[in-house]
Amino acid sequence: MSLADQLASIEKNLNNCAYAKMYNALSPADKKALDEAWLKGYSQNTVLMALRAEGIKSSNEAIRRHRIGACPCQKKPS
Ligand SMILES: [Zn+2]
Repeated sequence: MSLADQLASIEKNLNNCAYAKMYNALSPADKKALDEAWLKGYSQNTVLMALRAEGIKSSNEAIRRHRIGACPCQKKPS
């Protein structure tokens, strides 16, 4: 792989929203539970701990980027 290819693939990853990717893979019931957790004002840490307890991979950074709108996707949590 050339350096240009490497950099292009890094940029592609940065432009992906890890949160949306995780969210889209959830079951409808889990999506609803997650939406409700934000509506209830649960902290990011609380939500992340619950996700991890269920074996769902996410990270503080992915959630933070998404919630402050620093990610490229349009799907913002309520
Ligand atoms: Zn996002």
